[in-house]
Amino acid sequence: MPSSISDLAAGASQADHPQGVLFDIKRFALHDGPGIRTTLFLKGCPLSCVWCHNPESQNREPDLMFWQDRCIGCRACVMVCRERAIVVSDGLARTDRGRCTGCGRCVEACPADARRIVGRRWSIQSLLQEIESDVLFYDQSGGGITLSGGEPLAQTAFAVALLTACRERRIHTAVDTCGHAPWTDVEALAAVTDLFLYDIKLIDAARHRELTGASNAQILNNLGRLDDTGGRIWIRYPLIPGLNDRADDLIALGDLVARLRHVEAIHILPYHRGGLKKHERLGCPSTLQNKQEAHSVAAADHGREILRGIVKVPVRIGG
Ligand code: SF4
Ligand code: SF4
Repeated sequence: MPSSISDLAAGASQADHPQGVLFDIKRFALHDGPGIRTTLFLKGCPLSCVWCHNPESQNREPDLMFWQDRCIGCRACVMVCRERAIVVSDGLARTDRGRCTGCGRCVEACPADARRIVGRRWSIQSLLQEIESDVLFYDQSGGGITLSGGEPLAQTAFAVALLTACRERRIHTAVDTCGHAPWTDVEALAAVTDLFLYDIKLIDAARHRELTGASNAQILNNLGRLDDTGGRIWIRYPLIPGLNDRADDLIALGDLVARLRHVEAIHILPYHRGGLKKHERLGCPSTLQNKQEAHSVAAADHGREILRGIVKVPVRIGG
């Protein structure tokens, strides 16, 4: 896989526009919709949830990640960086991310595999080759593809083009979204999406803004409009002990879902701390403490019982 952004851009055919920026592709995924799926993780997100376990997804463009524990202080990266973004002090490389252009030269120069560019530009054609290699599994399991992220609506034109191409090939399409985008974008996506995995973080408006950096008004409004159009919806609720697991949080979620007609299930996603190390590698340590994970399973069980007392649809723990 090419490591520099310039390599990636040069390698992509101009005839293949639009291009998308992805940070991961997961084949044989079992928790991102029905059946066996290929999940495509797009970069860019309008929210900045404090518990985010994919912080490398938040920036729309490729990012530099750094493994401090691998660095041997050799200065090879300093020598090749034209932006003078790196200094080595106390035996460790330190990068001024404000100067870094993501060119990837330091990644190629590093002998310790301590640096990596996360995010790659893909054409629709090259992604279809990846997707179509597993069509047999989709057909036999009732699976397909799922766009996730990050937030697919951060790259709406690309997402619509890719989903349209999948539809033309009779491949089932799902989108995992936070719903924070203009309704016209959601509507465009809905026209080529068989199933929405719709993330709700909190119903309480003030705490939603505090914990995600954005209002939930557009998110809830889009959910209601999507429901009105008859789109198939699974609600996803990342449950973070101490942040959105109060009984009144779950009751508010249950009351909302009970009013909707096309929600088929609620999935509670227990917190895990997989994102904490990634925050460090991106140079933006998380403010969240490890303690949340210890209570996450018990909190998810409790949340499920509350929701089951309110809604008629299945409530599951996990994706
Ligand atoms: S990726 Fe950033 S830090 Fe590395 S060589 Fe390029 S500009 Fe310098
Ligand atoms: S090239 Fe790699 S090992 Fe050497 S100083 Fe830079 S980050 Fe550290």
